[in-house]
Amino acid sequence: MTHIVFNVAQHSQTVFGRKLMVSYTAYRAAMIDWTQALLNLNIDIPVGSDELSILCPFHDDTSESCSINLEKGVWICFAGCGQGSLKSFIEQYKQWDFKQVNQYLVSYKDTYNKKLFIVPTTEVDEELPMVKIPYNLGAVPRWIFDRQFTKQTMKKWNCGVSAANGLIIPVHDKAVRTVGWITRQEKQIPKYLYSRGLKKSHVLFGQPHVQKTNYVCVTEGPLDTMWLDQLGFPSVALLGMSMSEKQRDLLLTLPTNELILCLDNDEAGQRGLKRAMSLLGNKIKVSYINIPKEYKDVQDIKSYDILSNVIKNKRYW
Ligand SMILES: [Zn+2]
Repeated sequence: MTHIVFNVAQHSQTVFGRKLMVSYTAYRAAMIDWTQALLNLNIDIPVGSDELSILCPFHDDTSESCSINLEKGVWICFAGCGQGSLKSFIEQYKQWDFKQVNQYLVSYKDTYNKKLFIVPTTEVDEELPMVKIPYNLGAVPRWIFDRQFTKQTMKKWNCGVSAANGLIIPVHDKAVRTVGWITRQEKQIPKYLYSRGLKKSHVLFGQPHVQKTNYVCVTEGPLDTMWLDQLGFPSVALLGMSMSEKQRDLLLTLPTNELILCLDNDEAGQRGLKRAMSLLGNKIKVSYINIPKEYKDVQDIKSYDILSNVIKNKRYW
């Protein structure tokens, strides 16, 4: 049983011409729901994706130069209007000072709450549609080897290269059906682009590679998982920092006794950790690693010995 929340706010219906669906759990979590925080200010953002591009409200934009990452709460205008936390976006958009922005961000949920009603639904476990990857999967960009990935790893994960020299990483469901792909851009933001229609909250990246094992490392990004796997640590990725209920259910089917949460070493990763912890509860043995502060994620740790120690020193709650 899961809950879907319909937002029936009048402005939402007229502006978007349809009901908005947002995750009840995301709303309940103590984090800022940036989708709702922006929509309440009548900032017209597409719903349903964490990474999106919009016409920049700060210059005469015709090409959607403004990228927003709702999960990390950051924005950038590639024409140079600014970048940073979405708080600074709201500050600039509303011409508020920082205090007003913070006041808004503690109060928007109250107005939000009044606009909601909850319809319980039974989730249908539908299969994700299969896709064909329109890229060359026989070659990979050279920069991936600078990160010490090996050819064997690139072959194992059946990677390819995009026209813009990004790394193409196929995504398979648990039955090893190709359900989408990820483009890891070398330097551009956003780092990860997801193929159209890929429901990343419905898959565990790397799941088909997991065999009976004592533990599985759970990461945010596909490269984190591929890196751990290359060094001999079984791993799956959430494709984001926020574990979905579907992913929780998939994690509980893995042939393992323990999940080791290896999320990024930043604020978003910390929020993801809390969310994962509350979703998993005591349904399985769960531990987490502490990444030394000089590294931003597990992929940053190039030394096998250091990584192995970090994992060995996992903690339990
Ligand atoms: Zn701009």
